[in-house]
Amino acid sequence: MKDPIHSTLGRRHFLGLAAAATAGTLAAPVLAKTTNEEPTKLLPPKGLFSTEFGDYRISTLLDGIIPLQKGYFSGDEQAIDAVLAEIGLTEGVVPAPVSAFLFQSKDKNILVDAGMGAISAMGPGYGHMMSALLAAGVSPAQIDIVVLTHAHPDHIGGLLDAEGNAVFPNAELVVAREEVAFWNNPETMAKAPEEAQGIFQFAQNCFKAYGDQLSQVDAGKEIAKGITLQAAHGHTPGHSVLRVDAGKKELMMVADLFHSAELYTAIPDIAFGFDVDSKQAAATRIKLFDQLASDKTILCGSHVHFPGFGRVLKEGKTYRYIPVSL
Ligand SMILES: [Zn+2]
Repeated sequence: MKDPIHSTLGRRHFLGLAAAATAGTLAAPVLAKTTNEEPTKLLPPKGLFSTEFGDYRISTLLDGIIPLQKGYFSGDEQAIDAVLAEIGLTEGVVPAPVSAFLFQSKDKNILVDAGMGAISAMGPGYGHMMSALLAAGVSPAQIDIVVLTHAHPDHIGGLLDAEGNAVFPNAELVVAREEVAFWNNPETMAKAPEEAQGIFQFAQNCFKAYGDQLSQVDAGKEIAKGITLQAAHGHTPGHSVLRVDAGKKELMMVADLFHSAELYTAIPDIAFGFDVDSKQAAATRIKLFDQLASDKTILCGSHVHFPGFGRVLKEGKTYRYIPVSL
């Protein structure tokens, strides 16, 4: 039987991380120093966008922008080059924002993902989620629920401070059961390449640091009024999206359904270096793209152009992404 770790979480997929981290540090957590103070020219002031959306106030908290190397994307190489040329990305780099989202109702502050935090393996310039959160008028202690779409470093890094302590002391940490099982599985970790060990270790540290505040849930679970976790497996085994029914308005937070709005809508079966199962990720993506297009649902995503709201339109056999101003 095909080994999903060795076939898809292969060595080359972690070269970006490996190159950024110094040799010998990968068996340890990928934490080094906090990068919160690193200046980043690309970020707008505070990296915060807030708007009323039905019963919720939604804020986009920009953590940083990852310059994804073109080599992370694979599939129809000619088509990939054509899309990148069309949108003017001819240097072999696709800039991908990393955003967390804050959903506020009358009585709850719900954070969806937490940015890269103090993790330094992807280089400096991340961890701005916290300053955006503070600018939104919310302190870490006021967060009631943190929902993780999945446990990759750019989504869970902000859960721990540089000493490894929980950043959100009063929060329930809601994660899909399959996601926790994957990263906590010692056999899966043992089979993963050396470069991935720090990622496994960091995820385990996060789950442990939140102790009995960790809530492992099944798909379909309503996390807060109108907010439901939906399975979107493939990118990781427990990768989840959120349906947000905000009364008169609806939205889907699609997490890592795509890492480039233009590439993934033009080439929906594209594979990404950090996918655990690219085939499953593509099948999930196409199903959700069809659903988003036919329902005309507004989406927001972790790696969508800041502030991250848009729609997917069906266009022949593929799709087109359009940004939406709220
Ligand atoms: Zn991501």
